[in-house]
Amino acid sequence: MKYIIVGAVAGGASTAARLRRLDEHAEIIIFEKGEYISFANCGLPYYIGEVIKDRNKLFVQTAAAFNQRFNIDVRVQTEVTAINPSAKTITAIKQATGEVYEETYDKLILSPGAEPVRPPLPGINSEGIFTLRNVRDTDYIKSYVQQKHVTKAVIIGAGFIGLEMAENFHDLGLDVTVIEMIDQVMAPVDYPVASFVQQHIRSKKVHLRLNTAVTGFTKTGDKIEVALNNGEVLLADVVLLSIGVRPDTRLAAMAGLKLGQAKGIWVNEFLQTSDPDIYAVGDAIEFENPVTHQSMITYLAGPANKQGRICADNVVLGNTRSYKGSINTAIVKVFDMTVGTTGTASKHLTAAGIEHIVSTTHNGSHAGYYPGAKQMTIQIAFTPKDGRLLSAQIAGYDGVDKRLDVFASYIKQGKSVYDLIEFEHAYAPPYSSAKDPVNMAGFVAE
Ligand code: FAD
Repeated sequence: MKYIIVGAVAGGASTAARLRRLDEHAEIIIFEKGEYISFANCGLPYYIGEVIKDRNKLFVQTAAAFNQRFNIDVRVQTEVTAINPSAKTITAIKQATGEVYEETYDKLILSPGAEPVRPPLPGINSEGIFTLRNVRDTDYIKSYVQQKHVTKAVIIGAGFIGLEMAENFHDLGLDVTVIEMIDQVMAPVDYPVASFVQQHIRSKKVHLRLNTAVTGFTKTGDKIEVALNNGEVLLADVVLLSIGVRPDTRLAAMAGLKLGQAKGIWVNEFLQTSDPDIYAVGDAIEFENPVTHQSMITYLAGPANKQGRICADNVVLGNTRSYKGSINTAIVKVFDMTVGTTGTASKHLTAAGIEHIVSTTHNGSHAGYYPGAKQMTIQIAFTPKDGRLLSAQIAGYDGVDKRLDVFASYIKQGKSVYDLIEFEHAYAPPYSSAKDPVNMAGFVAE
């Protein structure tokens, strides 16, 4: 068998490694248009902020090591430009030489990821305006900040990456302004939870402009003038655009593969596209949200990695493993605070017409009499009929991640607020209370 994979980072590299485990003799070729494979996208903001000091630590695998360890033919800086599903071939271009060639496949797996949105605003392509997706972007941003002696950064978009970059720029000593078009940071969470984050960011002297849109940029000397829709103009040395991403479906669309309602690559429960010999995983695909049953796309590393394994099993063993979907469990560090979300936020449940009750609790991260307990706010949403959990959002300073993971697994298993009451946890005063915040959320909701 001959397998070809497009994209060699989260989803693509996981698929390749699993394919090799399942099929010792297969020919496996993985194409990557960038310079690097299997790098830690999620670590990039922290390398810019010098929390991660050694650039080599960003590379989970190198092309040479991947080849040696798994006998996989890794072709970096080689872009797949077309798929011919009827001939079962792909066309690739080797960037260094411009050589164009074809490869045949028995099965093709697409993991091309998502691209940062760059709206067609005046001056958007000026020097000093960046997006952050890969190591090349990271190197550009880092060297620009160092060489231009940057002191003022404007970040457009207060999503997860925007907030991580606000912290990292701030830690580098920059004066940071975050501009957000809607009335809150972190669109996937509900306003009451986001408001804690807003307060915290402002307490760190990061300027936050909500309900504000950027209308264009003008480069004047080394400065960038950032024009706002309220008529104001901000001066920046560096601008980061983090206003969202969209699935990279170009190849799939050109090949006539079906796209779905959310504009991702359509796949069935086996991660197989509308062509039975082509599978797809990662940020580029859409699937059914197990809570709302609507089409959704997740831009998260965990789902991409897990899909890669499932997809490889189905490719090699036949369609035997179904993907159960993701409930968008995500977490972010915002200075000293941690904010996490799992399931579908109340505002999105309302938009989807799903009846629900919201309940909020505020508890200590561990026993109050043991030093260092910090407040944690948990907001849950559940069905009025049977108390089935639909979402949980947490803002706090300590122990947010472990509680979030409990909620995520309960929501995925279809559990209810009554199960929260019975949740059994490890307790000693430095870690929790006899009644954990997860139990408390159940007691209040009951
Ligand atoms: P990617 O990992 O993006 O890989 C796609 C690859 O395909 C790219 O390298 C691209 O160059 C290549 N490619 C595309 N088209 C072609 C082609 N035609 N030919 C050859 N190669 C091609 N997720 C989390 O869960 N937690 C986090 O903390 C987190 N932080 C993040 C921080 C940043 C700065 C970024 C950018 C992302 C972060 N993510 C995080 C998201 C996570 O990295 C992605 O969800 C995940 O990498 C998606 O995997 P993927 O395989 O679909 O796409």
